[in-house]
Amino acid sequence: MVHLLGFDLDGLVAYCEGLGEKRYRAVQLYRWIHQKGASDFGEMSDLAKSLRSKLAEHAQVCALPVLSEKVAADGTIKWLFDVGGGNAVETVYIPEADRGTLCISSQAGCAVGCRFCSTGHQGFSRNLESFEIVAQLWFAEHRLRERLHLPDGQRAIDNVVMMGMGEPLQNYAALVPALRTMLDDHAYGLSRRRVTVSTSGVVPMIDRLREDCPVALAVSLHAPNDVLRDDLVPLNRKYPIGVLMQACANYLSAAPRDFITFEYCMLDGVNDTPAHAQELARLVAGRGPLSDVRVSCKFNLIPFNPFPASGLHRSAPDRVQAFAGILQAAGIVTTVRRTRGDDIDAACGQLAGEVQDRTDAPRRMARTPIPIQPVAQENAR
Ligand code: SAH
Ligand code: SF4
Repeated sequence: MVHLLGFDLDGLVAYCEGLGEKRYRAVQLYRWIHQKGASDFGEMSDLAKSLRSKLAEHAQVCALPVLSEKVAADGTIKWLFDVGGGNAVETVYIPEADRGTLCISSQAGCAVGCRFCSTGHQGFSRNLESFEIVAQLWFAEHRLRERLHLPDGQRAIDNVVMMGMGEPLQNYAALVPALRTMLDDHAYGLSRRRVTVSTSGVVPMIDRLREDCPVALAVSLHAPNDVLRDDLVPLNRKYPIGVLMQACANYLSAAPRDFITFEYCMLDGVNDTPAHAQELARLVAGRGPLSDVRVSCKFNLIPFNPFPASGLHRSAPDRVQAFAGILQAAGIVTTVRRTRGDDIDAACGQLAGEVQDRTDAPRRMARTPIPIQPVAQENAR
């Protein structure tokens, strides 16, 4: 059976043409599925009976099995979905006064292995397929519309961030059709500015995303120099800060926003000193030793959400404020992310799920504590 949720419109058109149907039929079908949340072909009253029975024979539109649904005190909802083989992924809905955000997973586990991330500590199980990525939005949107009693045509979710489990740019082939469905006016019709791909810095795929499907980009930076970033975000050894900054600058030529968001997880005594903030300000202004490229950016400081295996601690609030103050004084818009849903472990980096651990990640992670790099020495490199 073919999972129709995995097709972008062109894919669905090609599939329908294979069944001997015209393009406009595919558009109708796409609208039934994504705009109305229909999964029963029998209900799709303006499709010919013959097409409905062909679809029922060969195709399906189905939600991922829900393992749990938890609602936090602040209204944040976390769903745990079964993706088979003992793997589960999480999706988080974050209601705000002016918008509804859905945080979507792209992989079961993650191969990047960042030290401060519980998904990274689990290791990598598998890539999600396009239909599994879209199924998270399809389910959440229609479940919420029902629950919030929204009038026809009103969306529950108008902002999507690929910030759940996994590294979206290491699952590029499945990601792009899913993004296209999020953006398509016949489906969810989200603005490119309100679909954000967050990456730990897979440079070649940042370049490809710029060509294939430019959406808002967030880059998880977490360190102002390669020595520290190599340790926190191991992918940095492959794509160091210099090439990452160049990729960010290039991305801006096609991006729907005129800045890159840099995410920076504040780790007590590791990356949160005033000297680190000054080094960061020089880096993005193109005045650091690693890059002479100026990147128009905003910083989002994320209070670290601790989990026992990390051995790391959250920076004190006055540390975070001082750090933000230095970036702001350098003219960089800086916000501190409010932690949402932490009473249900739905906050950033707490999306542990029930992914089976089939790798040696926990052993790797348990090695030596992170060295604190003297900033002056790093500048001399
Ligand atoms: N793999 C992608 C997207 C998923 S992680 C990426 O790394 O960007 C989404 C964000 O949560 C990233 O900025 C990541 O650095 C952050 N994060 C991970 N673990 C965290 C933790 N324990 N506390 C706070 N933020 C965390
Ligand atoms: Fe993977 Fe992102 Fe977690 Fe790093 S922070 S391990 S890239 S999910």
